[in-house]
Amino acid sequence: MHNPCRICGGTVKGSIDLGRHPRGNAFPRPGETADEFFYRLVVGMCDVCTMVQLLEDIPQEVRYHDEYPYHASGSAIHRRHFEEIAQGFLDTELTGPDPFAVEIGSNDGVMLARIARAGVRHLGVEPSRQVAEMSRAKGVRVLPEFFDEGTAERIRAEHGPADVMFGANVIAHISHLASVLRGAALLLARTGVFVFEEPYLGSVVEKTAFDILYDEHSFVFSVRAIQAAAERFGLELVDARLMEIHGGSMRYTLAPAGARPVSPRVGELLEKEAAQGLGEHATLEEFARRARTVRDDLTALVRDLHAQGKRIVGYGAPAKITTVTNYCGIGPDLIPFVCDSTPSKQGRLVAGTHIPVRAPEAFSADHPDYALLFAWNHAEEIMAKEREFAERGGRWILYVPDVHIV
Ligand SMILES: [Zn+2]
Repeated sequence: MHNPCRICGGTVKGSIDLGRHPRGNAFPRPGETADEFFYRLVVGMCDVCTMVQLLEDIPQEVRYHDEYPYHASGSAIHRRHFEEIAQGFLDTELTGPDPFAVEIGSNDGVMLARIARAGVRHLGVEPSRQVAEMSRAKGVRVLPEFFDEGTAERIRAEHGPADVMFGANVIAHISHLASVLRGAALLLARTGVFVFEEPYLGSVVEKTAFDILYDEHSFVFSVRAIQAAAERFGLELVDARLMEIHGGSMRYTLAPAGARPVSPRVGELLEKEAAQGLGEHATLEEFARRARTVRDDLTALVRDLHAQGKRIVGYGAPAKITTVTNYCGIGPDLIPFVCDSTPSKQGRLVAGTHIPVRAPEAFSADHPDYALLFAWNHAEEIMAKEREFAERGGRWILYVPDVHIV
């Protein structure tokens, strides 16, 4: 399978083929599973610019339906993370006269609410109706649209240039990334910055975190690919920092080309990436082999425990669960339900495998023998919260970076 690169037009060869998958965040209601949307989940790297991307494109109107269930402020750690980011912008970038901040995919407004409270001009660009309404309730101004070149032009005409543009776990979701970067170049003030944080290819490869791959992640960014993409559209990668949130994200800072000094961190990360072989097809092919090993080990373990009469339930229903359970063929026959604290997911099913999602009370009311932890990037927070489960002899099953029981 080959495709043209969405950034540079080079050739993208499919190196990781996880088979047929439904949409990661679909979570259909019982009785709504007859016409589920499936696509082939194949990921590859561009021969020219090394951008890692999905080969099959899902129309974004299909993806960001009005009931999109992910809320950024859902987890306490996330809420704190975004409030710190907002405070950082207020302290360093939004200090001039009448500054202006734009967030792409502002979700439920967790980041911009802090900026709104500081009385700073801001605009969230958020096409999901439901979460846009949640952010309006927090006093956040929202433009209910997809961000692209045309949106950027209209925002600049109405509000002037942006001192800060921000996006978290959204930029890598946008298949028209080239138009987003052109839009950023249009909208940014000469002294402005475009900061975004997204799952990092280096961490994904290191952890064999194949569950980061689902329909919404059109791209998995590396420092090298972002540097090349920025350059193509008159921007420059001036900083990059690795963070542990979401199991390994990179925060990239772009600025108009030549406007800011480049941090030595960029060169250091590029060297590390070269040593890790991140720009090579062989690295992705090796990753695909390790993903198959994880699949085989996890399936064998769950089937074995089930055969021994052990009760296993799932813990956490992030979009990742859709990739893992569909790739491994794990359904409600092995895992009768998964618990998740997001109310809009409760009472629904994991797409494709149809494992029911229940409230966390279903877990604490009747502890199982084993809990398969799908929200593994929140392992510490979850294990601390569910100490009683372990104290009563319950065990956690993890599959990152390999299948193990703790
Ligand atoms: Zn390319």
